Amino acid sequence: MKTPNPTIEELQQQDEEEPPSRGSIATTPRPTLWADVPDEQWNDWRWQLAHRLNSLDELAQIINLTPEEIEGLQADDKFRVDITPYFASLIDPNDPHCPVRRQVIPQGRELKAFTGMMEDSLAEDKHSPVPGLVHRYPDRVLMLLTTQCASYCRYCTRSRIVGNPAMTFSRVDFEAQLDYLRNTPQVRDVLLSGGDPLVLAPKQLEYVLSSLRAIEHIEIIRIGSRVPVFMPQRITDDLCDVLKKYHPIWLNIHVNHPKEITPELSRALEKLAFAGVPLGNQSVLLAGINDSVDIQRELVHKLVRNRVRPYYLYQCDMVKGAGHFRTTIAKGIEIIEGLRGHTSGYAVPTYVVDAPGGGGKIPVMPQYLISQAPGKVVLRNYEGYITVYDEPTDYDPHAIDALQSQAVHRAEVGQGGVYGLLSGEAESIKPEGFDTLHQRHAAQHRLNVDTAKWVRYKDGVPMPNIINQNGHTNGNSQNGNGNGNGHHGANGHNGASNGHSTNGHENGHNGKPLPKS
Ligand SMILES: *Cc1c(COP(=O)(O)O)cnc(C)c1O
Repeated sequence: MKTPNPTIEELQQQDEEEPPSRGSIATTPRPTLWADVPDEQWNDWRWQLAHRLNSLDELAQIINLTPEEIEGLQADDKFRVDITPYFASLIDPNDPHCPVRRQVIPQGRELKAFTGMMEDSLAEDKHSPVPGLVHRYPDRVLMLLTTQCASYCRYCTRSRIVGNPAMTFSRVDFEAQLDYLRNTPQVRDVLLSGGDPLVLAPKQLEYVLSSLRAIEHIEIIRIGSRVPVFMPQRITDDLCDVLKKYHPIWLNIHVNHPKEITPELSRALEKLAFAGVPLGNQSVLLAGINDSVDIQRELVHKLVRNRVRPYYLYQCDMVKGAGHFRTTIAKGIEIIEGLRGHTSGYAVPTYVVDAPGGGGKIPVMPQYLISQAPGKVVLRNYEGYITVYDEPTDYDPHAIDALQSQAVHRAEVGQGGVYGLLSGEAESIKPEGFDTLHQRHAAQHRLNVDTAKWVRYKDGVPMPNIINQNGHTNGNSQNGNGNGNGHHGANGHNGASNGHSTNGHENGHNGKPLPKS
């Protein structure tokens, strides 16, 4: 019985009367090609892997291919094609704009070169102390375990190695990665990627997780995987049990369009969430697939309903194969403008451009800070409401000093970056060769002989440390930043990428593979 203002008791009663409807288990309809495959096989991830589609003939059985797709599939030098039957079943066979199809079926134009295109646009192989380990940020690394995936995204940022079994990482590479991590205590976060770590044989995966967990300073392990999307059948109870053993484990999936969020994916995500794995999503902004505020809104809403936090929205990388997927950066900013404030903060990803050449992720967003004067900041909200924030005139930034002195300092000497300028670790960041260039081949003369005139005064102490582009300090005066001592062994790997060539990285596959299950 419903009353206009029900009491708590009445509401509870109603709940009992109307249990949430559960119906029969929803599944994505299967194309007739697979209508006779027993559920037991269809739901077995090994069957899905073994029956992937990769040829023109196979794909033509389930999709009305366009001339451009036929051209793409016939190209000799194309990036690997492989599509799980499950993911292929999401494709609309008659819609050339189908967002699922566009992500995995090549088009002739994908091979077209464009200005700025690079093989390794994020310079990952250049910033790898050992093959497959990219140590770009002070406290975390990207660890590539395999070059294999369940299916292959046409815009793959790592197409230079991904899909090629000959480029995969060996047991020897993995041991070298582990050695580096054991000897690099500044790393507290290891991000497993590839390829896709969840296509590893179960025993291999457990070996990786247990080896990492044996390293005390590694606090969190993250997995970046599109397996739940391409092959939700892989998210078995056994896999969840393995993940649970090595917590804290975080997982980022990769969904680009709401159409990919099927009942099968929802159930896989629910299992992972029940296993205590915090879930995030990384999507790539793709022309003609998800470069729309409305599509992105639907995507992020569906994600949070599945307990997945939209984490990053990536600007498309400048790699071969991705040219026709690239959007302007303005489009990404417009999408954030259309989401932030309009919907739950939890549903808004950070839009990032992964810096060409290897600078890491750079967040980009609309401008919300409109103007400033001493003591006043003018801000605007998503509606265009403009307001002033009066800053405190009596703010004491030293009120925190007592607590700050007890807080843990992290040793990131020479990696302070722009924050290092604020913290007093450094006084400038200069392009390589800046000092030499500006000497203009000058001989020593009466005005330039005294270098003390360029030392900054601070609290009676001369300021040390000029950073050059390689992040090395000049070392000609005392170390004034004070912190950072006591941690060692972690430095010396940063910067100074000159002279390291990428050779040696290709040798990895000569070694023994990881143990097979
Ligand atoms: C993306 C990335 C990370 C992780 O970055 P977060 O911003 O911490 O998610 C780490 N290393 C490399 C090389 C990366 O590309």
